[in-house]
Amino acid sequence: DAAKVTRLTPLYGPAPGVAKLNANENPYGPSKKALAAIQEASLSGSYYASESAMALRAMIAERNGVDPEFVAISSGSSGVLAATAINAAQTGNILGPDLFWDTTSMAVEHQEIGKIVRLPKDAGLEIDLDAMYDAIDDSISMVQVVNPNNPTGLLTDPVALKAFCIKASKKATVLVDEAYNEVTDAPESNTMVSLVRDGHDVIVARTFSKIYGLAGMRIGYIIAAPQTIESIGKYGIGSYGLNQAGLAAAIASYEDDEFMNASRAKIREGREMVYSALKENGLTALPSQTNFIFADLGSINAQTFREAMEKENVLIRGIYRDYTNWSRVSMGRLEHVQMYVDALPKVLSQFS
Ligand code: PLP
Repeated sequence: DAAKVTRLTPLYGPAPGVAKLNANENPYGPSKKALAAIQEASLSGSYYASESAMALRAMIAERNGVDPEFVAISSGSSGVLAATAINAAQTGNILGPDLFWDTTSMAVEHQEIGKIVRLPKDAGLEIDLDAMYDAIDDSISMVQVVNPNNPTGLLTDPVALKAFCIKASKKATVLVDEAYNEVTDAPESNTMVSLVRDGHDVIVARTFSKIYGLAGMRIGYIIAAPQTIESIGKYGIGSYGLNQAGLAAAIASYEDDEFMNASRAKIREGREMVYSALKENGLTALPSQTNFIFADLGSINAQTFREAMEKENVLIRGIYRDYTNWSRVSMGRLEHVQMYVDALPKVLSQFS
C-alpha cells in the first residue's frame, strides 16, 4: 500500500536512524550464506520452485526424524497456519488462551466459517493448561498453543505442555506454533515435534522469519501426520506459493549454527539492555524466551506510549486486545535497542 511507505519505513525495511522494533524480526539476517544463495537462486528465477521446495522439505524431514510427507512448506508459516485454521473450521471452533498470536486463525472469523474460543484473561498472562483442557468440548476441533507465546514472550514448561498435548489431542487437534523455538535457551527440549513422530494428533509450526532473519523472504512450515498435511493442503497452494530466493535462503540457513548462535547472543544482549533500562525507570516486564519483551507500563497507555516512541524514531507495538498497559518491543540491532533505551526516560517523563 503506497500510502504506508513512510519517512520511517521506506520501500525495503526501516530508514537509516529508525529503530524498527515492532515485528519481531532478526535484522542480523539474512546471513552471509543466505545472501549468496539468494543471488545464485535468482539466476533461476524464471523457473518455478518445485525442486528447491522438495529439497528443503527433505532437509526438514530428515532433521526431525520423519518422512517428507509429514512436512508442508509455505510462504511464511502464515500461509500454512491460515490453511490449518480453515481446515479446522470445517469441523469446529479453535480454542486458545486469551492472548496469543491469533492473526492466521482470525481468518476463520473473517470468513465467518468458525470462531476462536478464548480462555478467560489470566492475571499472570501464562497459559493455564488445565483450564484449556477443561474447555475442550465437542464444539472445539483445534487447540492452539504458541510456545513461547507472542506477545507475552513466556515459555510454557515443555514437560507440562507435552502431557497436555497427549491428553488434549485425544479430544481435538493440537497446534503448537513454535515460531520462536530456536530463540529459546533449550530448543530441543522445548519442541513438541516428538509427539508428531509418536502418532499424536499434534501439528508443529515453525518459521524462517525469526532467528534465521528471513521474515521478508517468506518461508515457514508445519510438521504433522501425512493425512493432516493432505487435508490442510486442500486450502493451500503447494509449491506454487513459494519462490526460488526464499527457498535458497532457507536451505542455506537451516544448518548455519554459527549464524544462529551469533543471533541468539545478540538477542540475549538486547534483552538484558531492555530489562535493565525498564528497571532503572521503575518498570517491570515478563521473562522472555523470545526476541521481544512484554513490558508493564503501569498506568501508561501502550498506544500513547507507542506514538511518543515513534516521535523518537523508535517503532514498537501498541495495545493488544484490552491489555492497555502492556507494551511489546522487539530486539533489533543493538544500536536500535540502544535507541529504545535512550528514548525511554524522555518518553516516560511526558507521562508524569
Ligand atoms: N507465529 C508466530 C507466533 C508469530 O509471532 C509470527 C509472526 O510474527 C508468525 C507465526 C508468522 O510468521 P511468518 O508468516 O513470517 O512465518
